[in-house]
Formats: sequence, C-alpha cells, structure tokens
Amino acid sequence: MTIQIFPPLEIPETLAAGPGPGNTDARVLQAFANAGVADHMQGDVLRGMVECKHMLRKIWGTQNAYTFAVAGTGWSALDTMFSAVMPGDKVVAFANGTFSGIDALTLRIKAATPQEHKANPLDPQAASVTVINVAHGQPVTGEIVETTLAEHQPKWAFMAHWETGSGRVNDLRGFSDACERHGVMGLIDAVSSMGVEDFSIDDYPGIAGWASCPQKGLCCLPLTYAPVSFTDAYIESLRTTGAYTYVHNPIFEARHWGIVDGQDVEKGTYHRTHSGYAVAAFHEALRLTLLEGLARRSTSYKTHERVLRDAVTAMGCQVTSDMPSLVVLNLPPELAGREMELVQNCRARGFGIWPTLSAPVQVRIGILNQLNREAVSRIVRLFAEAMQELGCQVDFEEIEALLESRYGTSIAA
Ligand SMILES: *Cc1c(COP(=O)(O)O)cnc(C)c1O
Repeated sequence: MTIQIFPPLEIPETLAAGPGPGNTDARVLQAFANAGVADHMQGDVLRGMVECKHMLRKIWGTQNAYTFAVAGTGWSALDTMFSAVMPGDKVVAFANGTFSGIDALTLRIKAATPQEHKANPLDPQAASVTVINVAHGQPVTGEIVETTLAEHQPKWAFMAHWETGSGRVNDLRGFSDACERHGVMGLIDAVSSMGVEDFSIDDYPGIAGWASCPQKGLCCLPLTYAPVSFTDAYIESLRTTGAYTYVHNPIFEARHWGIVDGQDVEKGTYHRTHSGYAVAAFHEALRLTLLEGLARRSTSYKTHERVLRDAVTAMGCQVTSDMPSLVVLNLPPELAGREMELVQNCRARGFGIWPTLSAPVQVRIGILNQLNREAVSRIVRLFAEAMQELGCQVDFEEIEALLESRYGTSIAA
C-alpha cells in the first residue's frame, strides 16, 4: 500500500451567504492567529475565559450564574443543554423545520429507556416524549404551546427560537409564559438568534436552558465556543438527577469558566484542554458584539433583510420567511423544480447560498455579517445573474434602481 502525501490544503475565499456559517470577522481571525502558544491553565487564557463569561451574561441580558460556553458548535451547546433530560422524563418538543426536528431527535435519544434504544437505536421512539410537528414555514405559536402543555404537563418543553430550516421566528414570549403557567422547564435552541436579535434572557423566566453557537450571529467560525445559559432551577434538577456525560455536564463544564456551586470564583479549574487560540477568537467576537451593540446590530439586520427581500421579490421570487438574517424563497413559477441547479451554479462560483434541507425545496440566502450596501448589493447582483442564467428575464435596471433608492440616501452603513 502506498502512502500518499497530499499537497497543502488550500481553501478559497467564498461569499458565505447562507443560513450559517456567517462571514467571520477579520478581527476575530486575527485574534485567533495572533494568540501565543499557551496551555489551558495559563493565566491569560483563564482570565480570557472569565472575561468571556461576563461578556456573555451582558450580551444575553442575564444574571444566570451558569452562563458560559461549550467547546464546539451549536450541537455541542444543545447536547449540553439536553444533558439534564433523563430516560423516562416527560418532554414536549415543538418541531417546525430541519433543526428543531434534529433537536426533537436528540430529546428522544436522551429520554429513551434502554429498551426503547434497543428497539430502534438510531431513532428511538421514546414514549415519554411528545413531538408536536408544526408545518414547514409555519410558526410555533403561544397558543399551540399553551394547549399542549396544559394537556401533557411535562417536566421539559422545547422550541427553537428561530427555525433556520424554514426561516421562521417562533413565539418566545408565548412559550415562556406557557412554561411559567404550567411549571414546566423550557429549553430553547437560540443558535440562530443570538447576536442577531436584541433580547434578554431574564425577560423570559419560563425558560430554564438556552443554547447557541459561535458561527452565526457571533461571526466566529474558527471552531470556538457555543454559548449556554441555565437558571438555578435547571442546575438544581441536574444536581438531583445527574447526567450521562462528563464532558457535557453543565456543572462540570462551568468549572473551567470559574463557576463553582453557583458562585463566580477567580479562576477556572481543569475540565478539558481549552485552546488559547479559540479563547482569543471568541473573546474578540464577544467584544465586537458589545462594541457595536445588539440594538444597533438587530436594526441593521432588519434594514438589510428588507432590501434583499424586496430585490428578490422584484425578480419574481416569493419570500416565505420572517427571520432578519435569512431570506427563504420560492423561485418564480417558470423556474420551479430547478432550485438545486440554481444553488449549485451559485456555489460553483463561490457564491454560497443554500437549498432547504428538508421538504419543500426552497432557496435560502443569508446576510450574516454582511451588513453594508456593498455586500448586500453584491449578493443581489450575483443572485440576479444566476436567475438570468437559468433563462429568467431579470430587469437589471429595475434592480439597480431599487438598490439606489434604498441605499442612495442614509442607510449606507
Ligand atoms: C445552525 C443551527 C444548528 C446547528 O448548529 P451547528 O453549529 O451546525 O452545530 C442548530 N439549530 C439551529 C436553529 C441552527 O440554526
């Protein structure tokens, strides 16, 4: 057998214009590359982690002591949040798309008994978990949550804040209020809303656990940290039941971030080998979020989403989403069925847009960290060219006039 030595891997610069990952800020990459070699117990690495913890509490508007981040991606944070769910626990999960569907699967995996795992190892049908499927493109409303919790009286309820599969904003207020009314611990997948939407965890007391990611609203793709936050009630439940994990047990994990027995301590103790590079990059991403301010950033997302939405509508597309960082659309009737072809043509040119990952097939275009006239105009033009290439009549003058009318005056930044 011959051993092949491959040439060094080169990855091109592309325009990441999908639901995520977003375009990582150059200052975040610089912080990653500029960090010195230092081990995970070196003083500045530990100080950086403690500072990250404080910045996370500020960004997320919470006094929850157990607010820190988990090494890895969004699913790492979600797995940590679901770790307190034990076999046989009564759970209600609301699913309205690809991601909340996977969350519901994770909950069935956590709550399944050994017999249920044995019967269907990759897709256990846990009798204690009720999954309420809401149609693609439809929101989970407070009404649906209220009715279901009243009927089932579970220990845990789950919902995605923003379902990135269909670009749908779900009713966080209604979910939290229903959880509070029924004494249920709410769990939220906030992977795509954190760093984009201006909201405060402590305004939603029905929610006991939150999980997010580094690569979407925080613009920090180099594998770093996925934020989580837990109320005292969640931690108390975990303390009572335990969890079938060392690495993703929030009580253990929090120690490296300087959180012990619900108190902040001066520096963390070993949980696992954290990377100084990752800490430096994540620290910079959080600093940039605070410097810009979430109020300003969330307004900016809404403004630029509106421009993209109106431009693709002018091209004959039908937008079905309501998420400020993402437009999900149906192509004009004459191009129906050619979504994959269009997406592949775009991707071949380094314009990274996405189809939906579950039925129905739609096109998704995102603007994570693309909040300026130049970036959004580039996305609009590339998409218009791709439509024309498939034989669609695009009025480029009309599109340029639309961009000029929106950006010509004051919202250039
Ligand atoms: C992106 C996303 C995930 C998965 O995050 P990864 O970083 O890929 O692990 C989960 N839930 C939602 C709502 C998402 O948008």
